[in-house]
Amino acid sequence: MFIEVAIPIPSDRTFTYAVPAESRGDIALGKRVLVPFGKRSLTGYVIGIRRSTDRKDTRDIIRVLDREPLFHEEDLRFYRWAADYYFTPLGKALSEILPGGIDIESLLWAAKLGDADDLTTLQQDILESLGRRSSGMPLRRLENELGKKTLLAELRKLEKRGLISMEERMRKPAVKGRREKIVTLLETPVEPVKLTDRQGLALAAVGARGGNARLADLAEINDPLTVLKALEKKGLVRLGETETLRAPGTPGMIGRADVPVRLNPEQEIALGQILKGISSGVFSPCLLHGVTGSGKTEVYIRAIIETLRRGERAIYLVPEIALTPQLIGRLSNRFPAGEIAVLHSGIGPAVRYDQWRKIQRGEAKIVVGARSAIFAPVENLRLIVVDEEHDSSYKQDERMPYSARDLAVVRAKQQGAAVVLGSATPGLQTCYNTREKEFAYLTLTKRVENRELPRVEVVDMKNERDGYGRVRPLSRMLVEQIGRTLEARKQCLLFLNRRGFNTYHYCGDCAHVFRCLNCAVSLTHHLSEGALRCHYCDFSIKAPPLCPECGGDRILSYGLGTEKLATEIEGLFPQARIARMDSDTTSTRGSHERILGALGRGEIDILVGTQMITKGHDFPDVTLVGVVSADTTLNMPDFRAAERTFQLLTQVSGRGGRGDSPGTVVIQTLNPGHYAIQRTRTHDFTGFYEDEIALRKDLAYPPFSRMINLLVSGTGKELVEKGAALLGQRAARIASGIDFKGRLSVIGPMEAPLAKVRGRYRWQLLVRGKQVRALHAYVRQLVEGADIPGCEIRVDVDPMNFM
Ligand code: ADP
Ligand code: ZN
Repeated sequence: MFIEVAIPIPSDRTFTYAVPAESRGDIALGKRVLVPFGKRSLTGYVIGIRRSTDRKDTRDIIRVLDREPLFHEEDLRFYRWAADYYFTPLGKALSEILPGGIDIESLLWAAKLGDADDLTTLQQDILESLGRRSSGMPLRRLENELGKKTLLAELRKLEKRGLISMEERMRKPAVKGRREKIVTLLETPVEPVKLTDRQGLALAAVGARGGNARLADLAEINDPLTVLKALEKKGLVRLGETETLRAPGTPGMIGRADVPVRLNPEQEIALGQILKGISSGVFSPCLLHGVTGSGKTEVYIRAIIETLRRGERAIYLVPEIALTPQLIGRLSNRFPAGEIAVLHSGIGPAVRYDQWRKIQRGEAKIVVGARSAIFAPVENLRLIVVDEEHDSSYKQDERMPYSARDLAVVRAKQQGAAVVLGSATPGLQTCYNTREKEFAYLTLTKRVENRELPRVEVVDMKNERDGYGRVRPLSRMLVEQIGRTLEARKQCLLFLNRRGFNTYHYCGDCAHVFRCLNCAVSLTHHLSEGALRCHYCDFSIKAPPLCPECGGDRILSYGLGTEKLATEIEGLFPQARIARMDSDTTSTRGSHERILGALGRGEIDILVGTQMITKGHDFPDVTLVGVVSADTTLNMPDFRAAERTFQLLTQVSGRGGRGDSPGTVVIQTLNPGHYAIQRTRTHDFTGFYEDEIALRKDLAYPPFSRMINLLVSGTGKELVEKGAALLGQRAARIASGIDFKGRLSVIGPMEAPLAKVRGRYRWQLLVRGKQVRALHAYVRQLVEGADIPGCEIRVDVDPMNFM
């Protein structure tokens, strides 16, 4: 028997290995195997099994690492597609996608059962070690004790002869007391056995449950454990423990309690369309466009309920972990906890592994999670929901750069499933798909119970200069509105997309700017820590009292971060209870929930935060939302800057007035006339779409073209410059060749806006064309033969980030 193995190394090849006889029963597609690779042993993934091979030099695998496969054949088809599309070797893609870290050796537990005469010395040693501990020991410890690396094969031999027993034992479960005693009926012995009444009753009760019961099921028996132990002695039953799979802690409810509601007519129509797609059995994509608070989540939940009722499964993607506590609370009101699996980057590897297996085994029927959940090994998948589909966190920028939103559509297409992309501010691409492609357009135009949309005020910050010509962080209008809100005992959210105190620190005498040593960016001053920190790497220094250049003591800074904003607000409103939510204040586990919980209970009057506060939260007493600077995103060097700004402003505006009182939004900007801001003011999505799509068409930007970005980086400044130039020449040569002439254009090479990050210099080369196939073929040819010393080339398909 031979297997095809994908190994996480930077090569597109997969490898053939032979499977020795003792492992044959264990091999299955989707399991991990330990294989010899050169002089090393590496973990690989079984992606195919066959009888024979033409290769003469195949080596044996060392061992099988999983007891259950991690994915099915269907899943593999999807993984292969993703790996190929995003230029990632399959082995690397699998190691990115699949839960890692836990292998069977650390779980295997062996105990001695008996002895024999004809044993090797090693086998005798094993039995002796096991015999010293009556309850046996984990394989790992046994291997350490005997100083041997791989005892598994030996143990299997002993197991076959009935001399030892082996079982997989989970490490300490995260949740205590979740292990349950179970009892299994053994075969009835030939000899009659004498039983007490209680023993007879207990046997009958287990029999009535198909020969398997939990102790908790035997409530009719008095003191069942004693009775069952007696039965076990008589060889009639076996007592064991179930393995309760570890789950992430169930978060408490935040915000409003979820009560089942009657759908309004628009929700009914939307749901009806989605259900039609689900029952059609063919690929059915749709966009659910509804303002925040219009009841989209309610529609998703109904669609999921229907999917499960049909015996099929669903994946529900949400952008960020900050969003999930509220949602999980809501879902667990509607579905049994055992049917929900949760996957996101905030859960530890052990929990992730268990959640994964719960999905793979088909026990979980709904998978909720952040972008990586799109890879969950869900069989019989009929519905994929992508909530807030426009959100940039669906795109992963590092390692395998994929878009979970795009992959959701691909996976639905492969499986003939329904996919619902939902948003208040759909991405331009998705909207365009509803006009030009087969995407259905569903819309919820009203807020639930006809709550009003907030009033949006735009403040021109050019008119807010003080006597020295400096722009104050807070306009008169915003200060006045905060005051009013506090008087009315309501809550405010203040949004600013920069953390820290001052974002620019420099010497007033020689103009020396404090910069990161690893990155081409200035350092941000964090006052409470007395530190200057880089936001692109972990570089940080104590804020020096003197200029390191000239020794001057006039250290100045400007640029507003959330920390400074919170301080300003404290000065203006000393009575108010103020909290800050950004990645500085939420680095510990559970801190999101703590802050949002306090907001929900009315313990915070003003919450200052970065984009973390713009998403998904539903707090009825927030009536004022202030956008401190709309210009941060508007001025990004990115063709999507206007789209991002419109989305962000509309989302953050949607946080206001979700209760009974209408909300107010104040947007501060130096560009009050910009269409992204004006269209936000009038809640005019269609208008924004028309403005933006016309521009994109003129400039042939997506969705009128596709792009692939190549990032050349390395630690040597000159090497990278030279490498980029070399790649540029090669790119031009191939582009003018017969295959590609006129089908695509190459922009660059140019230095990246972030010219250096973490000590690596960065250049990029952008390829643009109408047909993604041609682009793909082109980039493959460009990268595959390219030999550029001292540089790494990273390929980013459908890039979202041009920094
Ligand atoms: P969205 O996902 O569009 O932001 P939600 O589905 O979260 O909207 O709905 C907002 C609030 O309105 C939630 O508290 C939800 O329970 C409630 N809701 C949703 N649909 C209805 C309805 N038909 N009638 C009354 N309340 C509803
Ligand atoms: Zn840095």
